[in-house]
This record gives sequence, C-alpha cells and structure tokens, in this order.
Amino acid sequence: MQANEHYKYMQMAVAYGAVALENKEVPVTAVLVHNESKEVLFKAHNMTNITLNGTAHAEFIIYKHLMEMYPDSHLEKWKKSTLYVTVEPCIMCASMLDQVGISTVVFGCPNERFGGNGSVFNIRYNSNYKIIPGVCHKDGISLLRQFYINENDRSPNSINKKKRVLKLEDFPKFNYSKFITLEEFTNIWGIEFRSIYENNEFLEFNENGELQPPKKSESKRIKT
Ligand SMILES: [Zn+2]
Repeated sequence: MQANEHYKYMQMAVAYGAVALENKEVPVTAVLVHNESKEVLFKAHNMTNITLNGTAHAEFIIYKHLMEMYPDSHLEKWKKSTLYVTVEPCIMCASMLDQVGISTVVFGCPNERFGGNGSVFNIRYNSNYKIIPGVCHKDGISLLRQFYINENDRSPNSINKKKRVLKLEDFPKFNYSKFITLEEFTNIWGIEFRSIYENNEFLEFNENGELQPPKKSESKRIKT
C-alpha cells in the first residue's frame, strides 16, 4: 500500500462513522483493503449495542464476514490485507489480528485504556504485523466526542444538563514512540518527516492524501 493511500482508506473508515452514529453505536469503524487488488473487502463499525455482545467490535464483525464469505481462504485474505481502523485495536482485537496474520494495521487515535498495539500491550507475537499509527488521529477522536455528546443529550438523567459543545480544536499530542520506532516511522513516511515523530506532531494530509511537511516549531513565539 502506498503512503498516500493510507489517508484515502482511513477517510473511508471515518466517513462510515456516520453510520455508526446513526445506529447509536460507539463509532469505531474499520475498512479491510486487499493490498494488491485494492479491493475493499468489507467495512464495519462496532455493534456491541445492537447485538448486546461485548465482543462485537468492528474488527470481529469483519472477521465473521470473511469467514462466511471465504470459508476456505479467509486467512489468505487477512494475510494480504491492510486494516484501517479509526481507533487503535483493543487487546482482544489486536490478538485476533495477530493470530490471523494480517499484514498491516493502520489506526487513528490511541485506545489508552485497552489498546493492544502499544497503549497497554503490543500484541504481535505470531505475525509481527506492521503498525501505522496516527493516521487521521483527530477524526478518530472527533467521532468519539460526537458520540458522547449525543449520548449525554439523550440521557434523561444527565447530571450535566448544560449542552456540551463539540470540541474540534483541542487534541492531545500523538506519542508515536509508544507504537513504533523512529526508523519504522521514517520507513513509512520518509526521513524528511522525522520531526513529526520527534515532536509528537500530527500527520496532516492534503486532499490527494499527500503528507504535509512538518510545521516549523512555534514554541519560541511570545504570547501577547
Ligand atoms: Zn476490539
């Protein structure tokens, strides 16, 4: 998969977040893309509320679908595919992805409580699949914020009756070193982007999916 394709497919996952929000599901969405044919094999969002099944994460919905569609070759599909998911896979899903032997996982924002690609554990014991973190990080967070604001507005027992405003400016920095080494980062994006990793800046793309050069440090600017 080319670097500029990561943005394109992650945006596909982000767009699918609207369907999750409509279905009142936590908007963690995933798209599985075949590396060579570029075929989108399946996309899914979490379905834990609809199914009342706590394990019905987007990754497992895709797993079930592939098993049904390709009973004899689903593992072959996984091995030659890249998963785009708006939030770092949890420990359970990271373990499943490891066991099916996925080639690459590209994710948006970290899953600080349950993440299995570096936030809590880094589960790559069997296949040592490639991880590309922080692609559309802000979009992943914005989807989750939108969900929790909707939930708060719906709740009759909401303690905080004040209408909450969706924050679209304020995002935590991204600590890449929890997930990958600087060498892995520059192998993906190029050595000219190394300061993004070193300064925990965001990956910013233009509409063609091209990664934009890192911003010059603004830390010396004097506040007035
Ligand atoms: Zn999961």
